[in-house]
Amino acid sequence: MTDHFHYQDGKLFAEGVNLEDIASRYGTPCYVYSHAALTEGFRQFASALNGRDHLVCYAVKANPNLAVLNLFARLGAGFDIVSGGELQRVIAAGGDAKKVVFSGVGKTKSEMRMALDAGILCFNVESAAELDLLNEVAGSLGKKAAISLRVNPDVDAKTHPYISTGLKQNKFGVAYTEAMDLYRKANAMSNIRITGMDCHIGSQLTEISPFIAAVEKVLFLVDELAREGIALEHLDLGGGLGIRYKDETPPAISEYVAALLSALEGRTQKLILEPGRVLVGNAGLLLTSVEYIKRGEEKNFAIVDAAMNDLMRPALYDAYHEILPVLREGHAHETYEIVGPICETGDFLGRERALPIVAQSLLAIMSAGAYGMSMSSNYNTRPRAAEVMVDGDRVHLVRERETVEQLYAGERIIA
Ligand SMILES: *Cc1c(COP(=O)(O)O)cnc(C)c1O
Repeated sequence: MTDHFHYQDGKLFAEGVNLEDIASRYGTPCYVYSHAALTEGFRQFASALNGRDHLVCYAVKANPNLAVLNLFARLGAGFDIVSGGELQRVIAAGGDAKKVVFSGVGKTKSEMRMALDAGILCFNVESAAELDLLNEVAGSLGKKAAISLRVNPDVDAKTHPYISTGLKQNKFGVAYTEAMDLYRKANAMSNIRITGMDCHIGSQLTEISPFIAAVEKVLFLVDELAREGIALEHLDLGGGLGIRYKDETPPAISEYVAALLSALEGRTQKLILEPGRVLVGNAGLLLTSVEYIKRGEEKNFAIVDAAMNDLMRPALYDAYHEILPVLREGHAHETYEIVGPICETGDFLGRERALPIVAQSLLAIMSAGAYGMSMSSNYNTRPRAAEVMVDGDRVHLVRERETVEQLYAGERIIA
């Protein structure tokens, strides 16, 4: 729990607003974000990087709500995107395309065109085939595409295998041993302009050492390139800094940045970082209501109105999210499986949680600001949750609850 979510007289608040009030006004399930927490995270990067030529490119996929993007844009952020759709969101939110880096292994021709037309800062190229296609697409538009190669440094991020990306066996980036050749090739292409080098080794890293190991490998290549007369303007060290969900002890943003800066001592290139989770994860929670208490022979279940379609992380990675009662007292504590209404045994949000709840109690599923709403689906024809952003004692609806009609609006019955 951050300071921005706290108990006041036994009731859970988001900044100055009682979560009970949000539930009665906007319904549940509802994502609740703290404007102050979002702002604070970004400012921590900015102050740790103060005095250094840098750009913090928020990784849009962590939470792409327009209000979140707009807030970061106003704080000076650039953006790391992984699709043309995310570029459209950044522009719609008032972000600057010139501060966008485009990552991802499967960029299509039309996404490349869109990004070239918008004038993005850099393509993080992930394969030889992508480089060829980008050269061709840029040529057809009479443009030069600015590129970094996303180098796969083959270091173990020591995180969940589904979110580890910097090992040889992962699909991401250009193999370390092939990067030099590909840079040479890129250097000879008429519609490519080499501007940087990029790496991103995974997500939810809780130690600094893998980041540093990756930086060192990247710098070795940077020096090799310099010897061949290829000078880089920027180094993009990706995102991946972890957050505390339960008992993890990730480094603070300031510590992480200080370690990177010390590994980069004497380097003058602009430093780009692509944080996602660490900026938004603990700035959001998912508010849900207990529909039923179901007593089983072996376990008691609290069946809530949020489900795996709203927050997929427990089902997908067996991820832990702290679950807090909105009313801290008033009922006896009992141990429950916190489950949703979806027809899958994997539809759980928490296991064996001792909570003082009855039917209709409200629960807050914490640390849900990153990869929560952004990974949600409509499975079981469940309209997606509303999203609100709290700023002091004001609540702003930043995404309306979906309606069922919206879900099937594009479908047709055949005659
Ligand atoms: C997902 C992603 C990020 C952000 O990762 P976090 O763990 O959320 O910080 C950064 N860069 C790239 C290329 C990504 O795919």
